[in-house]
Amino acid sequence: MSEKFQVVVIGGGPGGYVCAIRLAQLGLKTACVESRGSLGGTCLNIGCIPSKSLLNLSEEFHKVKNLSNKGIEVGEVKLNLPKLMKNKDKAVTVLTKGVEFLFKKNKVTYFKGTGSFKSKNEVSVKDDKNKETIIKTEKVIIATGSVPVSLPDIKFDEEIIVSSTGALSLKKVPRKMVVVGGGYIGLEMGSVWSRLGAEVHVVESLDHITPGMDREISKEFMKILKKQGINFHLEHKVEKVKRVDSGAIISTSDKEGNKKDFECDIVLISVGRKANTHGLNLEKIGIELDEKKRIRTNKSFQTNVNNIYAIGDVISGPMLAHKAEDEGIAVAENIAGQSGHVNYDTIPGVVYTSPEVATIGKTEEQLNEQNIKFKVGKFSFMANSRAKAIDDVEGFVKILADEKTDKVLGAHLIGPHVGELIAEIGVAMEFGASSEDIARTCHAHPTFSEAVKEAALSVDKRAIHS
Ligand code: FAD
Ligand code: NAD
Repeated sequence: MSEKFQVVVIGGGPGGYVCAIRLAQLGLKTACVESRGSLGGTCLNIGCIPSKSLLNLSEEFHKVKNLSNKGIEVGEVKLNLPKLMKNKDKAVTVLTKGVEFLFKKNKVTYFKGTGSFKSKNEVSVKDDKNKETIIKTEKVIIATGSVPVSLPDIKFDEEIIVSSTGALSLKKVPRKMVVVGGGYIGLEMGSVWSRLGAEVHVVESLDHITPGMDREISKEFMKILKKQGINFHLEHKVEKVKRVDSGAIISTSDKEGNKKDFECDIVLISVGRKANTHGLNLEKIGIELDEKKRIRTNKSFQTNVNNIYAIGDVISGPMLAHKAEDEGIAVAENIAGQSGHVNYDTIPGVVYTSPEVATIGKTEEQLNEQNIKFKVGKFSFMANSRAKAIDDVEGFVKILADEKTDKVLGAHLIGPHVGELIAEIGVAMEFGASSEDIARTCHAHPTFSEAVKEAALSVDKRAIHS
């Protein structure tokens, strides 16, 4: 007779592992099933963490190479790519092992293998030798995440035609890299390889990059990346990718139907990700999917089968690790009889390029569409003393506040460390703060955060330093 659990979580990514820990903290007998062989999901293994490690190391390489412009002479700066990759791998190992430790500490039982439904109260786990264990459970949480999508008839070989996974482990710096899609992955990985010496071309089907982002920020972002040497080809839809001896040829067409080919030695296809429901046997227990083949849930993350829940990338909403984590905590608290919830109006999004881009809440375009009258406060890092002192002055902070009530409705930032600065605005928005509340909060000097205060002052046209 197999052991019986109160809750089984399928998937050990940021949604699943955080959920399992919270369930155990709340006193529920919990198991987590993970097929990858290590915990942490896409995020820790092949996503957020390795990409941020490479972004940081490539930025340091680029900075050191250019230090002489700032009066610091260094000798010849050389890249040791295998060592750089080892550093990235170390960061991944330390963190994934850390999650395993947290499971032990919180008494979450970890099953290594692929989970699927035998029935609504039984999860089958098959290990890498195909040995099956059946786990009985009262409730199940599906947290199986997402996988990269390719273009029709184009398969990833992870050598020449790569997804983000291949782009995180290239053996040498490409001479020329074509990035298909100017979204989060394309711009982060494009920045990494451009700084390490590749000629990077971003081919994007729309007339702007980072769709969904405040348009003023997206324009500024592209302008800065162009200055850094990344080439952009907007309104070019990729139709075909063909492998040739020297690499690949990418065939595109623009909106007038003009064709253009790009040759390169590596092509990164980063045109989005899709929910991963493969092999779960969802049909057997009748779980409904939505029009985008994501698991359909209600506000309490419950599927149409009442003891089965789903969270993270496998359901609707932004595909972000912190969104998955917050849903994991909320569903655990709901199951324990508390009232967990996620405020989807205050989920920040950060692109970890240099400079960083950070957004939260409504964009100008969304407010206009919804006929909401708003005021705009803006402050440039060019006038921020800390940014000036260290000569890192690109970008600005923009705060959008309700015209009548002054309540902060959104904020969009590009510039130094804005991925950290956005947290202040998140807290303010959670408390329903006005722009005046931020403007009247004392901010340390000299800090980048003073740009947030000045942008808030600027909502009522009373910024001091501009
Ligand atoms: P996942 O992290 O995908 O985890 C799901 C887990 O379930 C996987 O480990 C998988 O092996 C396992 N699994 C699947 N099926 C089964 C099964 N049948 N049985 C057992 N286990 C199974 N987000 C950010 O917020 N910030 C970032 O900086 C960021 N950078 C990214 C960079 C890249 C290159 C990529 C690809 C993504 C990035 N993301 C980032 C997105 C982030 O990784 C995801 O939003 C997040 O990992 C989703 O968490 P999840 O728990 O829903 O799913
Ligand atoms: P994305 O949705 O961010 O961008 C895809 C881009 O590809 C879009 O701009 C789209 O217009 C373009 N595109 C689609 N088809 C095309 C075609 N045929 N030709 C040319 N362009 C085409 O997707 P992504 O960059 O693959 O990232 C996937 C998800 O991973 C993101 O939604 C994000 O949530 C997550 N992610 C987050 C971070 C972060 O938080 N820093 C980093 C990486 C990934």
